[in-house]
Amino acid sequence: MSEMFLHKCPNCNATLEFNIESGMVVCAYCGSRYNVKDLLTEAGQAASSAADAAGAPAESAKKTDKIKEFDWGKYKERLTREELAGNRSYLCETCGAEVILGATVASAKCPYCDNNLILLDNVTASLRPNAIIPFKILPDQLSDSVKKFYKNRKLLPFHFFDQNKMSAVRGLYVPFWLYNCHLKGQMTLKGSTSRSYTSGDYRITETSNYDLLRDAQMGFERIPVDASLKMPDELMDSLEPFDYSDLTEFNSGYLTGFISERFDSDPDENLPRVTERVNNSLLEIMKGTCTQYSNVSVSENHMNVDESSVKYVMLPIYLFDCMYAGKTYHYAANGQTGKVIGELPVSKGKKWLYFGIPFLILFAIAAFILRWFMG
Ligand SMILES: [Zn+2]
Ligand SMILES: [Zn+2]
Repeated sequence: MSEMFLHKCPNCNATLEFNIESGMVVCAYCGSRYNVKDLLTEAGQAASSAADAAGAPAESAKKTDKIKEFDWGKYKERLTREELAGNRSYLCETCGAEVILGATVASAKCPYCDNNLILLDNVTASLRPNAIIPFKILPDQLSDSVKKFYKNRKLLPFHFFDQNKMSAVRGLYVPFWLYNCHLKGQMTLKGSTSRSYTSGDYRITETSNYDLLRDAQMGFERIPVDASLKMPDELMDSLEPFDYSDLTEFNSGYLTGFISERFDSDPDENLPRVTERVNNSLLEIMKGTCTQYSNVSVSENHMNVDESSVKYVMLPIYLFDCMYAGKTYHYAANGQTGKVIGELPVSKGKKWLYFGIPFLILFAIAAFILRWFMG
């Protein structure tokens, strides 16, 4: 059986939950509030380090050493075969039920007692994310975002959307890779200039073609790619942008009350996608240096990524449904900015709709019967 962890209230021992409005973790039972950075994580280790780095550099440097976090270079070295498929079984500390979760689930709610579970194996030591953007948007604010989304869609009936029709709002943290990379190389673009003049009865157009050589190097920071194979890339891409100035040091206290999963995609395998993205950006910039020419196109591209590094972060999103005229519409929203995308077809979304949901059906029945007879 795998290890699980509950952030408990030091005052009354009830389970804590992250509160978006205050940015603190709160105890619903006794009302106590705590700073996430002050929360003790696994093994009684205070997770805070970046916050006090400015004040006491020597001591915090020591502290930072102790806290392991994700390092792809090192992780890759000792990566042999991972058990990412299938399920793991946990014992809920609070109600004692056996909870079956996907192997990549990092936080969830106990399906029996509704307590907030943190699955330690997936978010600590070498799997501890480098940073997180905590939720900023409240579930209540989503209906405004949806109205904004529908503002220019005149075909939909008035009052198509109101909060009453909203159901199953789920806050999730999705694992993301953030790449830094540096591109270097040469690029040849083609461009032309032309001039027209009249000579006697003739109108003459003279066109000159040029090869435009460019030596370029450019650094790109924080190029995001979602790190969960369950999440469709297009969906995640369309929820961008995130404001990375909100990135803060990871603490599992942010996950408490939300569903989350660890990464299951390989950052090296995503690199071509990143390279393509930065290459396209660079191309636009290079075209911008050829404004005196027309019909500018690329004839040769020898730009290469000569340096890259990756950070592992958790980013907040919402998934929710809306019922209208007997039909269910699926939506996703950026949990930091409130940007909504919607009317997602069911079939395509099937996989991610079940993101992090504990395996219930059979086990719920089994546990219930057991408790019934034993209680
Ligand atoms: Zn309490
Ligand atoms: Zn439980």
